[in-house]
Amino acid sequence: MTEEYHNPTVSLSPPPMPGGAAPALFLDVDGTLVEFAETPQAVTVDATLRAQLVRLRASTGGALALISGRSLDSLDRLLAPAMFDAIGTHGGEWRIGGVHGRAVPPPLRFAEVAADFQTFAAAHPGVLVEDKGIALAVHTRMAPHLAAPVLALVQAGLARLGGGYRLQKGAAVVELVPAAATKGAGIIRLMAQPPFAGRQPVFAGDDLTDESGFMAIRTLGGCGILIGPARPTAACFRLPSVAAFRSWLEVLNESTFSHDGARHEASALFGSPVTISQ
Ligand SMILES: [Mg+2]
Repeated sequence: MTEEYHNPTVSLSPPPMPGGAAPALFLDVDGTLVEFAETPQAVTVDATLRAQLVRLRASTGGALALISGRSLDSLDRLLAPAMFDAIGTHGGEWRIGGVHGRAVPPPLRFAEVAADFQTFAAAHPGVLVEDKGIALAVHTRMAPHLAAPVLALVQAGLARLGGGYRLQKGAAVVELVPAAATKGAGIIRLMAQPPFAGRQPVFAGDDLTDESGFMAIRTLGGCGILIGPARPTAACFRLPSVAAFRSWLEVLNESTFSHDGARHEASALFGSPVTISQ
């Protein structure tokens, strides 16, 4: 799988603060802005993060969007009462300036496959099926020993759905998503429109599904930030944890809202580049 990445072996530094052109911020949510929980529903967003995102959106002239595997409904529940421009369901849904879009309606067999997955989950405690309407995710965070049979289950579901769908692996989750839907395609969609168009794109994400976003960002002249442990990636920079990325965002907030000198100081906070080995 590594051959598809631009940087199969990388030396990734912590990211400097965006300088020069005004940034457009594209942010994955789970594993990037918030820590994982046992189920997606158990994840919460604290008031500090919500306020931080609202402030960053204001300081970037509205050019901040969430890029998530969650459905838009799930994102809105998580961040209520705030609502953001967003790419949901790995690119299968989007909302730009309040206008919604959706990739494709589910094929006729989608409901049958969903029912099969639910039957499996009912017989295997700890397995959680998430029906997103156009995508089906099967979570194994509470049943890691069932990862292999769940993968086989989802592969069989993919075969039943036929063309138009692809299998997306993630952190303790395997998912069937519309084939044309990727986070990268979602970011390209956003960058074609105001207030994102013409800005320097920055995308932060942690998971395999974020690699399409990192590659899209490269084609758009920007850089990706990998959050978490080192691995083959198309990102340009890396921060080791959600906490480290939250700190980076806070410094970005402060530098954006302060004078130019503060921005310069902020860049120095990250010190020397850190070399990582694969
Ligand atoms: Mg993530």
